[in-house]
Amino acid sequence: MNKNNDIILTGDRTTGQLHLGHYVGSLRSRVQLQEEYKTYILLADVQALTTHFDQPGLIADSVHQVTLDYLAVGIDPNKATLFIQSMIPEIAELTVIFSMFVTVNALRHNPTIKNEARDRGYTDLYYGFLGYPVSQAADIAFCKATLVPAGEDQIPHIETARKLVRRFNELYAPILPEPRILTGERLGGLDGVGKMSKSMGNAISLNASPEVVKAKLTKAKTDPARIHRSDPGHPDVCPVFAYHQLFRKENVDEIHASCSQGKIGCKDCKQIAGEAINDLLAPFRERRNYYEQRDDQVKEILIEGTREARRTARETMLEVREAMGIQYFKL
Ligand code: SF4
Repeated sequence: MNKNNDIILTGDRTTGQLHLGHYVGSLRSRVQLQEEYKTYILLADVQALTTHFDQPGLIADSVHQVTLDYLAVGIDPNKATLFIQSMIPEIAELTVIFSMFVTVNALRHNPTIKNEARDRGYTDLYYGFLGYPVSQAADIAFCKATLVPAGEDQIPHIETARKLVRRFNELYAPILPEPRILTGERLGGLDGVGKMSKSMGNAISLNASPEVVKAKLTKAKTDPARIHRSDPGHPDVCPVFAYHQLFRKENVDEIHASCSQGKIGCKDCKQIAGEAINDLLAPFRERRNYYEQRDDQVKEILIEGTREARRTARETMLEVREAMGIQYFKL
């Protein structure tokens, strides 16, 4: 069935709906990758708990919403295995084992952890938050994934996973593959400041209505040096132009030239970008609507995928325990 021997592990924290940044960074490539690779897609609810443990209702609802987002963009449950992280206890077991050979200092110096802790205003770190790269390594290793499509900020975590797997293989037996990262594109937010992110309030959700897309673009930042319509613009520093580049197939050069020569107003330019985004989202809305009417089918997809992931996890953990000499007996 799969043309390639690589195994993919990818997924998202379930802390809310997904947005265009997720689509550009990873979801669109997953839709292609599922055709060629054995693909596991993780609904990372345990990882969501590392920062949202005090909002259990949000986590459960987000599992449902993110599943709808996946199905809406074209993830095919007959091709990819969708599963819920917390329903695979073997991942937690492997996390404990990996945590034996990573130091607290190594985790503290992880740049992504440092940045995230700063952005969240954490002065003291929760054990689960500090250790989530270890849990992520277990997510990858339980299914022996070799390729992990993720954003650039995940590079330090994949490096941690590689080190942990290598250490395990040296200590016990070479049974776990070292994963590689497959980095996706980064989409800037509507505020023109950082990457698109729900917590920054600069995102367009994948389930946004045409009116919401239009309204969001109306407020999007543009080239700050361009005051009047006739001022020559600098499209390369404008987030709206990046949306033209990513979401329009034709006439992008024309927009670049018109902006640079002060021949198009930002209002018209945003409207064209908004139409392109709405064209992209239209089939997503349709598929989402289909699945929103079919709760039982969505639940069945998750049950089936989680069952399959659990089977894989049991097999891997048996190998892990045997390699470590702690498979004492069968219970
Ligand atoms: S015309 Fe378009 S690309 Fe140029 S600054 Fe305005 S919104 Fe940005």
